[in-house]
Amino acid sequence: MITLDRRQLQEIRDAAEAAYPAECCGLLVGRGGLSDGLRITRVVPSPNLAAEEGNDRFEIDTELLVGLHRELKDGPERVVGLYHSHPDHPAAPSERDLEGAWDPKLIWLITAVEDGRAARTTAHVLEGEGRGFEEIALRVVD
Ligand SMILES: [Zn+2]
Repeated sequence: MITLDRRQLQEIRDAAEAAYPAECCGLLVGRGGLSDGLRITRVVPSPNLAAEEGNDRFEIDTELLVGLHRELKDGPERVVGLYHSHPDHPAAPSERDLEGAWDPKLIWLITAVEDGRAARTTAHVLEGEGRGFEEIALRVVD
């Protein structure tokens, strides 16, 4: 299970609507593990470097990721996942997402956007040998 607070979810939903009809993307910082409860502590927006190539893709700024790793070092927090939106597509990982998944430990948060309005948000993690995604429970707290 992964937990985030309502304000963080709202940040992601707002970004998803603002980027429409393109995809938004960003990184998730948190602490804990999937087995004992992963808690998101920070939502870090990234420019979508692939936005001009189509509305069905995203690319997170690598420098943002490198900078975060450097900043968080060996502290209690780490980069635990990423988020992006699916404009006029369901909140489920696409084939492109599977091809682009580079780290089996990362959580994927996907927010569907329907006609410009943020809809469902779901969480996923790569299963076994990276053949597919498995949905995990997402808990929103106040
Ligand atoms: Zn996607």
